[in-house]
Amino acid sequence: MLSDFYILDCGLGSELKRKGFDLPDWTNSIWSAQAIIDEPDLIVEIHKDSIEAGSTVITTSNYYATPLILKDKQSKFDYKELSEIALTLAEKAVKQSGKDIMIAGCFPPINVSFRPDLTPNKSEVESFYETLAEIYKGRVDAILCETMASIFEGEIAADVASQYFKKVWLSWNTRGLDPSLIPSGEELIQAAKSVSKFNLDCQLINCAHADLITESLEILKSVASNIGVYANSSIHTLREKQLESYENISEVHYHHQTEISSDEYAEFAKKWIAMGCKIVGGCCTTTPEHIKKIAELRS
Ligand SMILES: [Zn+2]
Repeated sequence: MLSDFYILDCGLGSELKRKGFDLPDWTNSIWSAQAIIDEPDLIVEIHKDSIEAGSTVITTSNYYATPLILKDKQSKFDYKELSEIALTLAEKAVKQSGKDIMIAGCFPPINVSFRPDLTPNKSEVESFYETLAEIYKGRVDAILCETMASIFEGEIAADVASQYFKKVWLSWNTRGLDPSLIPSGEELIQAAKSVSKFNLDCQLINCAHADLITESLEILKSVASNIGVYANSSIHTLREKQLESYENISEVHYHHQTEISSDEYAEFAKKWIAMGCKIVGGCCTTTPEHIKKIAELRS
């Protein structure tokens, strides 16, 4: 069980971009995994910026370093090698900070985010998470299953993670127009119930607009004993013109997006803490400034 309150780090991809890294488009490249290869020091710097701002947990940077994404983009790199480097970079940042900071090992979706239809069969997903668990074993303080988009994916991640680690955090995604649904179209409440048989420390929601995610949390709260959140630094603004068709629910998210400031984000964080969230951090377009504002709420 959670005994304390944890502050996660800021979004990695958007922060790389803000720091001048030529970040390739996430729908058509290996996205932030490119920085593990090209700019490892920049990743260490971003980890340290988050720690300096008040993060008590940093997550390894291998979110897009998955076997299917690397293969699809014809990268010559291996996900095992990149995940190992990502873990080393996180360890380096913690060491250099001189602080007692936790490392969360990332369990990302095996394929393109928000596309549960592209998830392969069970044994392939299972073996991916088992391999990551072997790399992380004895070197991370928690596992963070991120942006889970279907019950199928969430159950496999939770199953493998809980066999290897005591502290498992599983984060669902609810981006789109309906905060009660995950990208597969399944109900968030069913998803949360489906993993309750595993020994999870906390269930979270990430990578959706801050206002809609607040509604998702109300649902999650009714099922999970511990809840947490890391939202994007944006809110939902209903545009008159709806998208006629889309391939990825993400297009709906961006179509109705309005960026918010770190102060506005902190107002949401205040609500989340009041709702009982034990883990709060930032996803896309959040910066160390957002983390600082969360930390200030706790001081
Ligand atoms: Zn995000």
